[in-house]
Amino acid sequence: MKPRRIAILGSGIMGASCALFLARRGVAVDLFDMAAQPFSGASRWNEGKIHLGFIYNADPTLMTAKKVIPGGLLFKPIVEDLLSCSLGSVITSQDDLYLCHSRSVVKPDAMQEYFSRVAGLVRQNPDARRYLADVSQCAPARLSSSGLGTITDSPDIVAGFRIPERSVSTLWIADRFVGALQAEPAIRLLAEQRILAARPCSEGCFDGPWHVRSSTGDFGPYDYVINALWQGRLAVDQSIGMKPSGIWSHRYRQSIFLRTRKEVDLPCVLVATGPYGDIKNYNRRDFYLSWYPEGLRIDSSAIEPPDPARLDPEAVQRKCDVIFDRLEAFIPMARALRENIESLSLEGGWVFAAGQGALSDPASTLHRRKDFGLFRRGRYLSIDTGKYSTAPWLAKALVEEIIDGVS
Ligand SMILES: Cc1cc2nc3c(=O)[nH]c(=O)nc-3n(C[C@H](O)[C@H](O)[C@H](O)COP(=O)(O)OP(=O)(O)OC[C@H]3O[C@@H](n4cnc5c(N)ncnc54)[C@H](O)[C@@H]3O)c2cc1C
Repeated sequence: MKPRRIAILGSGIMGASCALFLARRGVAVDLFDMAAQPFSGASRWNEGKIHLGFIYNADPTLMTAKKVIPGGLLFKPIVEDLLSCSLGSVITSQDDLYLCHSRSVVKPDAMQEYFSRVAGLVRQNPDARRYLADVSQCAPARLSSSGLGTITDSPDIVAGFRIPERSVSTLWIADRFVGALQAEPAIRLLAEQRILAARPCSEGCFDGPWHVRSSTGDFGPYDYVINALWQGRLAVDQSIGMKPSGIWSHRYRQSIFLRTRKEVDLPCVLVATGPYGDIKNYNRRDFYLSWYPEGLRIDSSAIEPPDPARLDPEAVQRKCDVIFDRLEAFIPMARALRENIESLSLEGGWVFAAGQGALSDPASTLHRRKDFGLFRRGRYLSIDTGKYSTAPWLAKALVEEIIDGVS
């Protein structure tokens, strides 16, 4: 039986992608969120790296890379189809530069070997031409010492690599998603609704219709419930007795989103893996800057993480100064950003992961991120997005499974 009405919990990239796909297949969708606007959380405030797995170089099994590559390669065509527009203008124009820190948990030669194995996986994939740039012939390259010297003079950086990975401006995409949701008559946006629980209409009958309880009351019945609440997901799963297996963490991370007064020519650079921070240049005027230890505000393994306290303007300024200082110590040319600020904000979002630990610990399970995707109990579907880059691909597969029975 084709479903007629579905509740989607959470209007980030996962919930919104599911909603648009379902609406186009003739299903009425109630899309719930506790925020006043869709795309107010991690899906707006992240750096938009469309992962091909290179960053997971502390997982030599390649399991994480294998899991993220298909969604990364298809991100652009799927999102362009959903939003009916080209992403061309919001894709970073150059490959990323990965800088290996002397305290990296992966040493330069092992990193190089890992990169070449991942590039092999990418090249073999039939969708390699569909990525943000054609990666069907991609080949990571180790920087010569003179090439590295043009980026950094820090004795802490022991190697550098040009990596065929790109990013998108998530703010631009967030605004397009909000417009697409508002223009879709089959989607009812239910904002400022904190979801508390879900329950089958008949007790114990998980394959029948479902109700949803929010802070304002009960909604339903629905043919399916899709839980895409990200940091709020486990608490609602728990309301129906679903427990996460293994370990998990909720990390609240803040980064700088900056616009410059004039164009600044700066590569997209990241320092990895252990000490971690990066600069993303979307279009020479819009930038993202992070220094992981300074941006990490909460690291919680509670089922429901605490809300982050608001920082006063002085605390925001201090944090931004430290992020600038740390990045400029590795990438001196980043000073041009601090000297040309037109506007700046320190923004954040949650990172849910089926792993825990410090990035500086080689044994941290955060280095292996293959365990995401769909968990189900009858017609209650709980989806761990994994990454921004994998969300549209997972959403498409989930909707095909619901409507066509294809999995
Ligand atoms: C700083 C940072 C950098 C990142 N960089 C990258 C990157 O480069 N590449 C990448 O692929 N991924 C990145 N990520 C991860 C990526 O942002 C997330 O994987 C992705 O955005 C999650 O999408 P989502 O739709 O599942 O969650 P969200 O976008 O968080 O949406 C979930 C929604 O649920 C709502 N919600 C939560 N609980 C409740 C409740 N109880 N009731 C009602 N509503 C609720 C929230 O308000 C939110 O709108 C980064 C994340 C952060 C924070």
